[in-house]
Amino acid sequence: MASIDPERRELRAASGETLGFDLLILVPPQKTAPLLRDSGLAGENGFAPADPRTLCAAPCIYAIGDNADLPAPKLGSAAVLQARVAARNVACELAGRPPGASYDGASAYLMETGRGRALLVRTSYDGPVRLSGPGRGQQVLKRLLDRFYFWRLARL
Ligand SMILES: Cc1cc2nc3c(=O)[nH]c(=O)nc-3n(C[C@H](O)[C@H](O)[C@H](O)COP(=O)(O)OP(=O)(O)OC[C@H]3O[C@@H](n4cnc5c(N)ncnc54)[C@H](O)[C@@H]3O)c2cc1C
Repeated sequence: MASIDPERRELRAASGETLGFDLLILVPPQKTAPLLRDSGLAGENGFAPADPRTLCAAPCIYAIGDNADLPAPKLGSAAVLQARVAARNVACELAGRPPGASYDGASAYLMETGRGRALLVRTSYDGPVRLSGPGRGQQVLKRLLDRFYFWRLARL
């Protein structure tokens, strides 16, 4: 994106193309913190490459979550599952054993699809993306999770 003209509701792309819009929702490019980019652990794209299964980025160093360059979605659920694997592998290394725990690419999220429905999406390295819905049950689950998040988890 090169510029936005809010009066005319137009977005000009770096290529010179002009796109009109009614409502513009921009997602900035995702990038890592300078701390990681300057650490020597990051690849050319700024993220830390790691073994997709053991999550090992370098001896005794593990890359998880949004900073990791893995073929997995950048999601809270993925970060939590990766953290468990990394913690077990750190324990293996401390005990003098090679990393034994393996991440399987798992993540899950609920996505609003409108009209009172939501979609449950699950990923894994070992199979296609699994979709459940869109349905009303998934939306009830999403609403409950949202409430639980702000009632309990966000206060921890
Ligand atoms: C708008 C939005 C909506 C999302 N919705 C969902 C969703 O519905 N479900 C879902 O599963 N995921 C969702 N995600 C993705 C999810 O938030 C991330 O994948 C997840 O938070 C990644 O966890 P992380 O621990 O890797 O990174 P973060 O949660 O970003 O944690 C990194 C931490 O490091 C700290 N930090 C940075 N630099 C330094 C430094 N130099 N020194 C010390 N600390 C530092 C930061 O302050 C931060 O607390 C959403 C993300 C966004 C932006």
